[in-house]
Amino acid sequence: MTEYEAVIGMEVHAELLTESKMFCGCRNAFGGEPNTRCCPVCLAMPGALPVVNRKAVEHVIRTALALNCSINASAKFDRKNYFYPDLPKGYQISQYDRPIGVNGWLDIEVGGKTTRVRIRRVHLEEDTGKLMHLPSGDSAVDYNRAGVPLMEIVTEFPPDMRSADEARAYLIALRALLTYTGASDGRMEEGSLRCEPNLSIRVKGSDTFGAKTEIKNLNSFRAVHRSIEYEIARQIEVLRRGEAVRQETRGWSDARQETFVQRSKEDEQEYRYFPEPDLPPLMIGEEWIESIRRQMPELPSSVRERLRRDYGLRAAEADWITQNPATAAYFTEASRACGLPAQVASWMMGDFARLLNASGLAIEQARVAPEQLGRLLSLIDAGRISGKMAKGFFERMFETGATPDALLAEHGDQVTDEAAIASLVDQVIAAEPDVWAAICAGDERKLTYVMGQVMKLSRGKANPQETRRLLDGRLEKER
Ligand SMILES: [Zn+2]
Repeated sequence: MTEYEAVIGMEVHAELLTESKMFCGCRNAFGGEPNTRCCPVCLAMPGALPVVNRKAVEHVIRTALALNCSINASAKFDRKNYFYPDLPKGYQISQYDRPIGVNGWLDIEVGGKTTRVRIRRVHLEEDTGKLMHLPSGDSAVDYNRAGVPLMEIVTEFPPDMRSADEARAYLIALRALLTYTGASDGRMEEGSLRCEPNLSIRVKGSDTFGAKTEIKNLNSFRAVHRSIEYEIARQIEVLRRGEAVRQETRGWSDARQETFVQRSKEDEQEYRYFPEPDLPPLMIGEEWIESIRRQMPELPSSVRERLRRDYGLRAAEADWITQNPATAAYFTEASRACGLPAQVASWMMGDFARLLNASGLAIEQARVAPEQLGRLLSLIDAGRISGKMAKGFFERMFETGATPDALLAEHGDQVTDEAAIASLVDQVIAAEPDVWAAICAGDERKLTYVMGQVMKLSRGKANPQETRRLLDGRLEKER
């Protein structure tokens, strides 16, 4: 059977973290009462003129440099013309043939293999408003988002990615980079980071390209991964049937876990791009570029290498911990406090991440300070509490901000004393003679139950390893 391969590129839009909008002084923020952050410029009143937001340009230059791009000394703005109710001017100010950054790259690692994803361009434009379909059946437009600075990052053609795993890794690496440079908060669920993968299928080893589809409306890493996998399988199926893949834009339905046709893809000339007459070319001098380069924060690739080297983290752990600067800082402080980096990583990625997800909090909003997580792990390490007790402690710490020492004072240390645990074991066996007899006769699955009873009797404080050891010894003797 013919073997196929996917060729995957990606366009990513990021709303920039600026105080004000791209071409006016309206505040740039998420949500809010509809149409309260608008002015004649972002509402496109006749005669209103745009003024470029310098901070937004700096964000794009910084991001482009972090992505190893060349910076265009003379970039310019162009009008992209199309009609849609959420676009008050009837055109979007964007950049066409002279974007700010060109010809960069971002390295990603999947399964131990590093792939260089080349970047074609990084440009600056403005966001549209939001069309809202109301329960009454009416539609309304909220222009609070209209004119918010938007950066677009486009991968090179021909694209370098071949799998859904690589596409997800690229997006994760890019999002991390944007949070480290401070360009974006990276919140996909709020739409401040939006991603449109495009993909085509060809016979493996071929150097031609098939018709590509673009997938829209993806708001999570999972949706990106799933939709690409679905689309790869769908296109291969079309080819195997002997039909042709149509070039089109497709949406993703999370509910049905499938892509669906939205519209056939428009050609570039339909937008009738032309230079924006209300804005002069954007002159970017060497001095400006150098001052931004000098103030470049440490980037995730470097933080990742440092954490792997200094703390012996595995690749997947280092990726997770460097997802944003706050998570990396938390890890570093907690590890410093207890000297147990492997345990810190495992708690952060396990219980801590689960509680953060469930509560919708960012790590910097959590009530557990890094030193307190470190202290908790030190208590486990010193044998004063069991892993099970620590889980309970951590939930209390997360909910109430209690310290591990306060919880320890309340509960007392775990019981590791052999005589004390042996006495608990005796009590449980005396209370459950039938169960114990069944275990001695060979039904060892019931041991878990006996373990549980001992833990219960000790109010969770019996050391589990010691309890298990005593039970095994006792069983050995009585069998
Ligand atoms: Zn405005």
